[in-house]
Amino acid sequence: MSLNVAMDVEGVLADIHILFVNRYNEQHGTSLTKEDIDTYTEFPRKFDMTMEEWLRQTDEMWDQEWNCIPTIEERIEEKMAKLNERHNVDIVTARVAIDGVKKWLKKNGIQYGRLVYSAKKGMLDYQVYIDDSPLLCSELFSDKHQLLYTQPWNRSLDVSRMSNVTRVNGFDEIVEKLYSSAFLDNL
Ligand SMILES: [Mg+2]
Repeated sequence: MSLNVAMDVEGVLADIHILFVNRYNEQHGTSLTKEDIDTYTEFPRKFDMTMEEWLRQTDEMWDQEWNCIPTIEERIEEKMAKLNERHNVDIVTARVAIDGVKKWLKKNGIQYGRLVYSAKKGMLDYQVYIDDSPLLCSELFSDKHQLLYTQPWNRSLDVSRMSNVTRVNGFDEIVEKLYSSAFLDNL
């Protein structure tokens, strides 16, 4: 069975949070880490910053410093190639600075079908979403499934009672799930 898969960018492929935290520490003389970004809907109090300001600064990073944004894992392009062999994997992002995202994907050799911008991902026609957003979990209809990529900002979400959410810790697990007949037959 070949699926239509929506692959998120930030927090799954691209580690913009690391770049952000490093810049923040340089500017404020702090020693915060990515682990300190432990909330999702508002920016953590430890950072002197609103959600809007975080979005503005990270938009700027996608525009001007996309080349400095690391991948979340090593050899992520090999795992993406493997997923593309079996499924139709589109990149779906809510980030408006999409030119930077496009250049970043190319630079990192990441294969995909289409690059889609959407602020309402759950309404799109995908069977599986690979995403770090804890909000998407409650937005998805029951015929869709989310592989929730573990990050500090979603760690406290208990997915054990969510029948259409599976927590994954890394791309090896993602590849394993999307090649497993037991998993695919249960969707
Ligand atoms: Mg994300």
